[in-house]
Amino acid sequence: MPSNPTQDQAGTRSAHRAVQRAARAQPDTQRVAVITGGAAGLGKGIATRLAADGLAVVLSDIDADKLAATRKAFEAAGHAVETFQGDVSKREDQQALVAKAVEAFGRLDVFVNNAGIEQVKPLDEVGPDDLDRIFRINVHGVLYGMQAAAAQMRKQDDGIGKIINACSIAGHESYEMLGIYCATKHVVRSLTQTAAKEYARDGITVNAYCPGVAGTSMWDRIDAAMSHYLGTAPGEAFEKFAAGILLGRTQEPEDVANLVSFLASPDSDYITGQAIITDGGMVFR
Ligand code: NAD
Repeated sequence: MPSNPTQDQAGTRSAHRAVQRAARAQPDTQRVAVITGGAAGLGKGIATRLAADGLAVVLSDIDADKLAATRKAFEAAGHAVETFQGDVSKREDQQALVAKAVEAFGRLDVFVNNAGIEQVKPLDEVGPDDLDRIFRINVHGVLYGMQAAAAQMRKQDDGIGKIINACSIAGHESYEMLGIYCATKHVVRSLTQTAAKEYARDGITVNAYCPGVAGTSMWDRIDAAMSHYLGTAPGEAFEKFAAGILLGRTQEPEDVANLVSFLASPDSDYITGQAIITDGGMVFR
């Protein structure tokens, strides 16, 4: 296809702008990361790693008690931390979260759209309320998070803004009883690619991390629901998934945090639009 000169010029200008922003980044400026669903599970692990990397962290979660306990632990460890109780499925909460981060630390460099919920049901039993609930959190939540983060990152003219979305191996594959969950994660992968294209001109990269099987409270609930629908013994569904992992163990939050740390760092400045699998070798077994 012949190339469009106007598009080529616009693309080159955008690329230059991104490079100039990166070059202007002040090494002594403390970078600031927001992590949704940051009070527990993978989100807490990611926040712990980003704080250890030297970023100020703003944790949001819908669960006020868990959020307060996690904040206390971060403060005790001497980390720069702020918290915000909110529901990612509400656009105004995501906007208020970004405002809180800017109020607390003056800027926003990394926004991790981590919060998400599971749903275990055979397709024939899925009703309108089921669809509504999971799509509102896993899809609307990610979109509202990206919109709020990008609006702030565009106001800053230094450094590359990094939006990092929680996808899953369920965004690359589909699994029995997890059909709607898988559908939401496929949408997250698609939104990640589109946002990467729309935000590149503003010096913002958008990537996703795709975990496999991590033994958080989410998996406890998945296992219990699988037992209900498939008549499996407690732990059996988890073990069945775990048996498919080439590296021979399920993952820890630290395994996921290693990838997110990279995606949040300047080392990944030239990567965008990717949904990177971290599953110990499961999907491609
Ligand atoms: P988790 O259930 O253990 O923790 C999720 C956290 O998000 C909790 O603290 C919860 O209170 C919070 N949360 C839930 N709904 C929210 C809402 N509406 N607004 C704000 N916060 C909310 O889950 P996890 O295992 O840590 O999973 C984190 C992310 O990683 C999810 O998006 C999940 O889909 C994805 N993921 C997890 C696994 C896994 O094996 N655990 C695998 C692939 C992908």
